[in-house]
Amino acid sequence: MAVRPMVNRDSQFFWDGTQIGELRIQVCNACGAKRFPPGPACQSCDEYDRGYEVASGEGTVFSYVVHRHPPVPGKELPIVIALVDLDEGVRMIGEVAGVSTGSTTEVEIAVGDRLRIDYHKVDDELTLPIWRKA
Ligand SMILES: [Zn+2]
Repeated sequence: MAVRPMVNRDSQFFWDGTQIGELRIQVCNACGAKRFPPGPACQSCDEYDRGYEVASGEGTVFSYVVHRHPPVPGKELPIVIALVDLDEGVRMIGEVAGVSTGSTTEVEIAVGDRLRIDYHKVDDELTLPIWRKA
């Protein structure tokens, strides 16, 4: 069983996007501010007029952790979780796949590394975004 993210009115557009291979960023239709995580009201102008744009799917590692403990359902640990600065200017958290985590000193990822989004289809209703080194 995989970990299922919270899907609600605020984040539905995001998960609709990953299903068709789009990384969507919420954008305020009133003032154009981008935000992540998505929310009902704009933090810049307090308007509730939400839209989105499709991100390029590329970004840079701002920081990361190697998650070794506690166990995560459906995951073989360790996994790398990174804060990714998208080229569009929002910061997003996500798992980075394909990175060796042999020991604490041998993690093949560094702050500033370029990442590209990929998609992991869990089932017909859920596709998770996953990052790989570009
Ligand atoms: Zn706004």
